[in-house]
Amino acid sequence: MNSKSANGKRRRCDSRRLRRVNNLDEARWKAVEVRDGRTTGVFVYAVRTTGVYCRPGCSSRRPLRRNVQFFATPADAEGACYRACRRCSPQELRVTDPTAVAVISVCRRFEHPGSEQSVRALAAELGYSERHLRRRFSEIVGVPIGSYQRALQADRMRAALQSGMTVSDAIYEAGYGSSRAFYEHGAMRLGMAPGRYRAGGRGERISYTSIVTPIGLVVAASSERGVCSVNVGFDEAALTSRLAAEFPNAIIERDDDGLSDVASVLAGAVRGEKDPTILPLDLEGTAFQTRVWEALRSIPAGRTRSYSEVAAQIGAPGAVRAVGSACAANPAALAVPCHRVVRQDGSLGGYRWGIATKRALLEAEATHTAPQ
Ligand SMILES: [Zn+2]
Repeated sequence: MNSKSANGKRRRCDSRRLRRVNNLDEARWKAVEVRDGRTTGVFVYAVRTTGVYCRPGCSSRRPLRRNVQFFATPADAEGACYRACRRCSPQELRVTDPTAVAVISVCRRFEHPGSEQSVRALAAELGYSERHLRRRFSEIVGVPIGSYQRALQADRMRAALQSGMTVSDAIYEAGYGSSRAFYEHGAMRLGMAPGRYRAGGRGERISYTSIVTPIGLVVAASSERGVCSVNVGFDEAALTSRLAAEFPNAIIERDDDGLSDVASVLAGAVRGEKDPTILPLDLEGTAFQTRVWEALRSIPAGRTRSYSEVAAQIGAPGAVRAVGSACAANPAALAVPCHRVVRQDGSLGGYRWGIATKRALLEAEATHTAPQ
């Protein structure tokens, strides 16, 4: 009797913990960080700096978050030219726990568009109740089935749009079922208006520059109207190819002189000495994202807001998660200061360019802001 109720209690705590992590990559990173063996077989992670991919429980040195790329399967990682780690041999994986095998088969099923089967039907096929399958999926993968499907759909949508498909074809191809479903769940994840994403910046002239700073390389790009992309990382080739991927049809040229003002503002901002929000922007996002990004630009340097405070500020107090997604989709580090948004309990929350970078930026801003 007693042990039963203790079990029930633990289960409730677990599901609360799981609900808080609603982003697939964040959940995957968490599994890598704690070397969670339970997620073995669900995905692999690859490290850009070493060219090696591992299973999540690998005992090798933990990589930096910003150097990590996630793949569903070893074949996907090898397709992206990574080689298997000798220590954990992720390609030779045999999962024996039947529940884990079932959950992994659900993951693999969702990775193929067109095979959208209802969770109930899948569960029946695998011999589980729908409720049980959903619960074990969340426990093992770290996000609910619905979040997993949406993350995969957003990836497919992005790939379809970039291949030149029309928005309506891409919505179908990605498996949204209807354009309404896409605009409710997917558009936000793209971080850019779908029309422009498809055009990939066609005919636009985008210039960029890179700046060496204490937090790494900052690659900033600007259209004729304003700053359209700012990324932080360590590998200049990776950063510029990310820019090219964001605007595949634009004419992208390096222009250090033309962007020297932008560079000086960003370099000063990294040191906490300049306010990066003075930069003119040319970002396209959904109406909701734009509201969030505008709200972020009103947070003074040296201050932070919680995700729920931002949600309240834009008049959508129930949309705390969506505010988090809009922050994660921010295309312009620093200039849209999503690093100034933290969790309610004061912990840092996520950051697209790595938690260490977020912490460094907040510390620099706190140091240079006179106490008020
Ligand atoms: Zn390994």
